[in-house]
Amino acid sequence: MSRIYLSPPDVGAAEIEFVLEAFESNWVAPVGPALDAFEQEFAEMVGSPHAVALASGTAALHLALRIAGVGPGDEVLCSSLTFIASAAPITYLGAKPVFIDSEVQSWNMDPDIACEVIKQKVRQGRTPKALILVHLYGQSANIAPIKACCEQYGIKLIEDAAEALGATYGKEVPGSMGWAGIHSFNGNKIITTSGGGMLVTADVELAKQARFLATQARDPAPHYQHSQIGYNYRLSNISAAIGRGQILRLAAKVTRRRGHYRVYSQAFRDLPGVTMQPEASWGQSTHWLSCLTLDPVVTGRTPEQVRLALEAADIESRPLWKPLHQQPVFAGAEVYQRGVADQLFAQGLCLPSGSGLTEEDRQRVIEILKTALK
Ligand SMILES: *Cc1c(COP(=O)(O)O)cnc(C)c1O
Repeated sequence: MSRIYLSPPDVGAAEIEFVLEAFESNWVAPVGPALDAFEQEFAEMVGSPHAVALASGTAALHLALRIAGVGPGDEVLCSSLTFIASAAPITYLGAKPVFIDSEVQSWNMDPDIACEVIKQKVRQGRTPKALILVHLYGQSANIAPIKACCEQYGIKLIEDAAEALGATYGKEVPGSMGWAGIHSFNGNKIITTSGGGMLVTADVELAKQARFLATQARDPAPHYQHSQIGYNYRLSNISAAIGRGQILRLAAKVTRRRGHYRVYSQAFRDLPGVTMQPEASWGQSTHWLSCLTLDPVVTGRTPEQVRLALEAADIESRPLWKPLHQQPVFAGAEVYQRGVADQLFAQGLCLPSGSGLTEEDRQRVIEILKTALK
């Protein structure tokens, strides 16, 4: 039996075809027809007018924040329960993250706390420049009330949809509702280009600026001329070719991940003290990872004991993201919370959820977990 990973890459023959095509046309560079095609196909798929393919989701966030005008001393609101990449770019620009707790319903940013903090900051004359809203584990956040608050005070809403490609929010799509949305094609995400990201937007100026800054901010001139400092952030044409193959099977991949969630939920239904991440009423989650919480008082086991039992059977599982307000690097940062993210972190566990996970392997996970809780 081989090791079962949390979320390994799942690539197929179509990707090889697209990569061969890119090789044979000699576009082995961060420019080329596969890159253009990937952007166009992706934009159509998510219903955003513009898509800019970049080296990573982190780069996409960095560009969005910079173009939003975020600079030294500014404040940016951000979900606390998330991966470091959601907030790291705030600090690249010398700005300060202000962390907001989760709500129980979706595990994402609590709209009541967010709007209250926004109003308080506006009153104090410190209107935040931007707000980064994460759609964690593929569950769309409660976007509408947060978007309304941002619009009322001219705050740029940036959606971190790195885990939510293929999710829905009513008839809309997370990542395509704010001023900017970012996606990730890291090796562990729903689709991969080995590494990469996308910035999507309806704002043509944002897309133009992002392309400009991502290619070293070259002014129009035959010689190399620069009046701003940019970055080398474009995705390579070869990576984009992988992405073209991956999006062909996006729907099937999301269906697979949602299937894991359904089977896990069924299997653990009668286990007291074990609760799967709830699915909010406003849309379909991708269930990028199937996550559960485990009440140690009821189960008599800590999530860490269960993780170690799975590890002993060569199965990878992980705690939930450690809230950023608990991270040593953000010690002293401003945080507004009621302890929801802290409790989720203390009790949570993410289970193997890859779109390539077989039914036999999934059954192995279920059996080991059930045995660990006996
Ligand atoms: C993966 C991830 C990112 C960063 O994407 P990269 O492509 O790895 O830079 C950002 N936010 C969240 C929530 C993620 O899971």
